[in-house]
Amino acid sequence: MNTNTNPDNQKTRTPSNFLRDMIAEDVRTKKFGDAVIQTRFPPEPNGYLHIGHAKAIFLDFGLADEFGGKTNLRFDDTNPEKEEQEYVDSIQRDVRWLGFEWDRLCYASDYFGQLYEWAIQLIKAGKAYVDDLSAEEIRRYRGTLTEPGKDSPYRNRSVEENLDLFVRMKKGEFPDGSRVLRAKIDMASPNLNMRDPVMYRILHAEHHRTGREWCIYPMYDFAHGQSDSIERVTHSMCTLEFADHQPLYRWYIEQLGIFPSRQIEFDRLNLTYTLLSKRKLLQLVEEGHVSGWDDPRMPTISGIRRRGFTPEAIRAFIASVGVTRTNGVVDIEVLEHFQRDDLNRRASRAMAVLRPLKLVIDNYPEGQQEFVEVANNPEDPAAGTRQVPFSRELYIEQDDFREVPPPRYYRLSPGKEVRLRNAYFVTAQRVVKDDAGNIVAVHCTYDPASRGGNSPDGRKVKSTIHWVSTAHAISAEVRLYDKLFANPDPDDYAEGGSFLDNLNPNSLEVIAGAKLEPSLAQATLDERFQFERVGYFCLDPDSRPGRLVFNRTLPLKDTWTKIEKKAGS
Ligand code: ATP
Ligand code: MG
Repeated sequence: MNTNTNPDNQKTRTPSNFLRDMIAEDVRTKKFGDAVIQTRFPPEPNGYLHIGHAKAIFLDFGLADEFGGKTNLRFDDTNPEKEEQEYVDSIQRDVRWLGFEWDRLCYASDYFGQLYEWAIQLIKAGKAYVDDLSAEEIRRYRGTLTEPGKDSPYRNRSVEENLDLFVRMKKGEFPDGSRVLRAKIDMASPNLNMRDPVMYRILHAEHHRTGREWCIYPMYDFAHGQSDSIERVTHSMCTLEFADHQPLYRWYIEQLGIFPSRQIEFDRLNLTYTLLSKRKLLQLVEEGHVSGWDDPRMPTISGIRRRGFTPEAIRAFIASVGVTRTNGVVDIEVLEHFQRDDLNRRASRAMAVLRPLKLVIDNYPEGQQEFVEVANNPEDPAAGTRQVPFSRELYIEQDDFREVPPPRYYRLSPGKEVRLRNAYFVTAQRVVKDDAGNIVAVHCTYDPASRGGNSPDGRKVKSTIHWVSTAHAISAEVRLYDKLFANPDPDDYAEGGSFLDNLNPNSLEVIAGAKLEPSLAQATLDERFQFERVGYFCLDPDSRPGRLVFNRTLPLKDTWTKIEKKAGS
């Protein structure tokens, strides 16, 4: 597990890593002459970006930036059946939200013409051929890791025949799947990617940008390296699963004699309790297990944004996990730790009662109200103060009162005195119950001399609870989120099952009638709050005037700090 979480690293861009060292070395040796460092972030627009992509984005943009270089956003749109404009738009929004601006906006589909010409060039050089084997036959002929493959009977077609067939493939003369163009490399190569990989397939499909112009589409491997080369990408960083593709990446570039972009692989980000596969995330969306790609329980950038996460915290987290050449799994608590740390600094404090219980102060004058002055953020004096209304009738949390207190319960119970945060000491006197025996109100008395939260005689109380004045409170819906999966490895399921078996049935709890202090009526979507003693919250875009909805970003408790302390001791 690569869980380097030294918070001191947060301020630095990223801890030193082999990618940076490699680029620095290439700069020093002038491997690319005087060319500027050029990187790209190459998402396939077949889903929304997730937290794993954030790692790639920080590396692609961050490293280029460090070396005075540039980064393109390039859509790897070679698979028309799964790609959509909605994804293109969301990806741009998410990259910008993370704090990056690309140099050029590119599409692999912009290069379809050039790629086609390069395919012709390879055919003419005797390096590519049209194969009539079916997909299934191609798979069988490919061999296995322990057995070499077999040559296709079509492998030795003449250049003329290959040219004729490929041109007709492009013209649309053949149905889907009837033929492919393959590179002629080595059916006995120990690397399966080098056993005459498919370059082009026939697909009569509508492309989100090129429409019906093409009915043959290049495979990822035939498009990616050449797209890099066209854009003069010097360092093409990608995740480790592409390491086996690197020889092919280089082969195409060498055969074509084009700009030699360099591919470098790094480890994928994996998180406990989290799936980072677009295919599975799409399934969650399509089958309605979540409300959409931006459901606050999703690990997508749009999901965690709606949940209240911040780009700064994501950046600090990504920097802390570092980059290596072996895949590991990072505890989700590490991400949450960085988010709490960030929110603790930026969140405005507010009082909100999620499960209200009425508290009546019998000796407080009826009809009277006053305002207590409260710091907006004790971590940030510049955030100022605000006036919170106080009156005879308040809401407190049901959990903060027990008629019969269990051992070591220090909150309110009959005869016990507690502090109302920023206000007064109160002592519970009696309860009022409904016919069913439920407590509907607690009556108490207050000590007028304890205004501000301290008694002049130095009397101590063991606990401080939050409150909201009933007459001034605003009501809101509050959505409490927990992990979407109940298993640390969502892909660990019984035979015959699926990752859906690991969904956490309690990942969302909706509280309809929370009572909030009135200042929260002015909350905006980009503000962050700490509801005192309850957790970090933000406004949800579902909110309407008079119908506010708040999302819990995280509860206050920082399990990670505990784990870390234990590990460190
Ligand atoms: P998925 O397997 O979910 O479809 P992908 O890798 O195919 O993801 P792309 O859109 O091709 O998704 O990814 C764009 C870039 O982001 C690639 O360079 C890829 O290596 C990188 N990337 C994707 N997932 C991760 C991850 N979990 N950690 C780090 N980088 C990632
Ligand atoms: Mg991919």
